[in-house]
Amino acid sequence: MVGLENLGFRMNATRTSAPDIAIIGGGYAGMAAAMTLAEHGIRCTVFEAGKVLGGRARQINLPELTQPVDNGQHLLLGAYHTTLKLIDSLHPAGTAYLRLPLQLHTHNGLQLKATRLPAPLNTAWALLTAKGISWSERWHAARFLQQSNTAVQGSVSELLASQPASLRTKLWEPLCLAALNTPPTEASAQVFLNVLHDSLLRHGTDSDLILPRMDLSSLFPAAAGRHILAQGSEVITSQRISAIEPDDKGYRILDRHFRAVILAMAPQHLPALLRPHPALHASLHAAESLSYQSIATVYLQYPPHIRLPQPLTGLLHAHAQWIFDRSHTHDQRGLMAAVCSVPPLSGNALQQAVVRELQQYLDLPARPEWVRTIHEKRATFSCHAALTRPAQRTAWTNFYLAGDITHHHYPATLEAATQSGVQCATQIIRNT
Ligand SMILES: Cc1cc2nc3c(=O)[nH]c(=O)nc-3n(C[C@H](O)[C@H](O)[C@H](O)COP(=O)(O)OP(=O)(O)OC[C@H]3O[C@@H](n4cnc5c(N)ncnc54)[C@H](O)[C@@H]3O)c2cc1C
Repeated sequence: MVGLENLGFRMNATRTSAPDIAIIGGGYAGMAAAMTLAEHGIRCTVFEAGKVLGGRARQINLPELTQPVDNGQHLLLGAYHTTLKLIDSLHPAGTAYLRLPLQLHTHNGLQLKATRLPAPLNTAWALLTAKGISWSERWHAARFLQQSNTAVQGSVSELLASQPASLRTKLWEPLCLAALNTPPTEASAQVFLNVLHDSLLRHGTDSDLILPRMDLSSLFPAAAGRHILAQGSEVITSQRISAIEPDDKGYRILDRHFRAVILAMAPQHLPALLRPHPALHASLHAAESLSYQSIATVYLQYPPHIRLPQPLTGLLHAHAQWIFDRSHTHDQRGLMAAVCSVPPLSGNALQQAVVRELQQYLDLPARPEWVRTIHEKRATFSCHAALTRPAQRTAWTNFYLAGDITHHHYPATLEAATQSGVQCATQIIRNT
């Protein structure tokens, strides 16, 4: 990974004027906005508070490893059309990620694998040939999916009330937690159905599992940074913006003038910039009304010959719900990333529980060589049934909010983030 600090992000010296569009936040949303502007020949300045681009999907370095890992192991889906198109535009084919037909393998024998058929035949095939679920459960699951194109209210638990308890606990509830990072008792039934519909019933490859082959900064935001730099834009890292003032030309940031601004920050960072401006208080109140859910990724290093049969294995009723074997994707042999959504434990207690689970369920050694946990306390907004999201358009002209929270269809995902960035940039292009 080329660190952004090594890229010399400054204004392209051959240009006479500075860009007049500011993007605050260099996560997936901000960099998708910057790429969209660049595609239309419009230059921008990206201000990023962190040392590297990526925000909640970024590379980190662990002292034990020479190669970077991620602040949290991510999984993408074939339905992430916007994100994948952006990634594909920046990397040679086949190098950025591993694409697999939908498959679920859990430690207690549930196995489900789609084939390359058009949707919904691929999903029907996966259900028909699944192992570990009864014929009655298959029938109930198929019936349930048929209603995924309808408008619903309430929580996922309410939505699942008519499903057999066994199917809820081994299939739907783990999928809900994985997709929405919110417990089914609180999670929005509508957003859950949106995800199921878009990934399982639209196009055959939308249900594909997409596993990054590189760290999450290199996958998109750092590559996008290099790309827009070459087009005359600026990316300024380690630069937190603490004030924005409207003026007669648009907006003033750090004593520079911009005609348009996109705030592409996580919602918890919005209030500091919005509060001083009463005209923006509708956006402020929406951001302040949110609650958050955590995700811990426990990295466990085992001897290099240890390898799981699949890159991704599910554990039921465990603290670690999904185990990614990074030897399949990153050439990090013996390295497992255990993803714990909304974990009730933290610190040593969580680590010890995960080590025990991997020993008990996957037969891995009782003592890994080392274990490290990255616990993101505000990994995602809580995607509950009564969620009110801030709008992208604000009371100020040419002043937009991007970021996963502003995308009304999806939970906190990379796709919600990139689509929101593209949408805000498109508004600015239309106004140009
Ligand atoms: C551990 C973990 C696991 C996840 N797993 C998945 C997954 O498997 N699949 C999936 O699709 N999604 C997953 N997500 C969610 C996904 O990462 C987010 O939805 C997405 O990254 C949000 O992108 P964003 O650009 O909207 O916001 P952010 O990534 O939060 O980007 C905002 C950026 O703004 C910067 N910033 C904030 N304030 C300022 C300021 N004042 N000045 C300058 N810069 C500022 C921040 O430093 C940050 O870089 C996961 C998230 C976490 C944390």
